[in-house]
Amino acid sequence: MIKGSDQPFLIFGSPLIEQAEIDEVAACMESAWLGTGPRVARFERDFAAYQGLQPSQVAAVNSCTAALHVSMVASGIEAGSEVITTPMTFCASVNAIIHAGLTPVLADVDPATQNIDPAAIEAAITPRTRAILPVHFAGRPCKMDAIMAIARKHDLMVIEDCAHAIETTYHGRKAGTFGDFGCFSFYATKNVVTGEGGMITGRDEAHIARAKVLALHGMSKDAWHRFGDQGYKHYQVVEAGFKYNMMDLQAAIGIHQLARVERNWQRRETIWNRYLEAFTDLPIGLPAPPAPGTRHAYHLFTIMIDEARCGISRDAFLDAMNARRIGTGVHYLSVPEHPYYQQRHGWKPEQWPNAMRLGRQTVSLPLSPKLTDADVERVIAAVSALAGGC
Ligand SMILES: *Cc1c(COP(=O)(O)O)cnc(C)c1O
Repeated sequence: MIKGSDQPFLIFGSPLIEQAEIDEVAACMESAWLGTGPRVARFERDFAAYQGLQPSQVAAVNSCTAALHVSMVASGIEAGSEVITTPMTFCASVNAIIHAGLTPVLADVDPATQNIDPAAIEAAITPRTRAILPVHFAGRPCKMDAIMAIARKHDLMVIEDCAHAIETTYHGRKAGTFGDFGCFSFYATKNVVTGEGGMITGRDEAHIARAKVLALHGMSKDAWHRFGDQGYKHYQVVEAGFKYNMMDLQAAIGIHQLARVERNWQRRETIWNRYLEAFTDLPIGLPAPPAPGTRHAYHLFTIMIDEARCGISRDAFLDAMNARRIGTGVHYLSVPEHPYYQQRHGWKPEQWPNAMRLGRQTVSLPLSPKLTDADVERVIAAVSALAGGC
């Protein structure tokens, strides 16, 4: 029998849900106000406070994908312009650019940090470039000094994909506060969860005001204000918007998740350091240590399985972990590995060799604060057995 195959399945990225969220969801149900209302307003205030922003600088939406799309539209970039992003990201970053009528352009990553390389951004700039969309991969901040200098030099918008980076700081500032917009995710596997959910943050309050209108059909007043006890108010549709608002039911979860964000971060840091210590002598690639003057959000712990060094292929490693009842993830196969982008843009993975190689070797290990010490040791034993025999 395979060692561990009799154990319960360890679900990758399973969130830690506690009684406070359960009680708040029940209270929300009992109030019968399920849609966008007082709990979303509170979650927005709490999130703004956590990020050091004013409540007028944040807008809750129903996903980070929605946040990215609305930010692209609200940034007012003319159709057909180019937006530079990383090939080492979730497809949503690229799809949001396409849905806004813009053209994605990829710039390869630094192989040590897996983050977009500022030199590659410079090299990708053309007269049509209007924005940069950096992704703080795994929760490690991109080199924002260099990226903002490029943006200033070429007069570009910056939209930060902060799906992994709620707790991230760079030189004393929170990720998401450097660019024009920051886009956060509260998807079920992220560091703060609402099931599905997202947040847009913005430097400029006018940008956020427009994002809020765009996220609710382009209507000038939201339903909470329309259907409250202040009497009926007509709304006006001022542009063709989307249906991207967050529900109070989602915010009910997020309020209490956010209240525990630091405690959960500490637990993930402990697990991260235990993995690092346990894996130092294995022939696998490990995450680079966080850079000085930065804070890593520890969203993903990724190892690199190079078949030539480990004697096992990455995909065989994934299968073997699964046989040991341990869920893993792949973040990410590089964007140009997918047929849609190959067909539409003519991209080939080889054009971004660092992202291609990382995407073909990477494995994300469980890093949830829900993991017990015994779970962590189980993961370590499995990785050591599978990757250590060489
Ligand atoms: C999860 C994720 C998204 C999308 O977030 P949703 O809230 O699921 O829409 C976007 N970008 C990155 C890098 C992500 O990891």
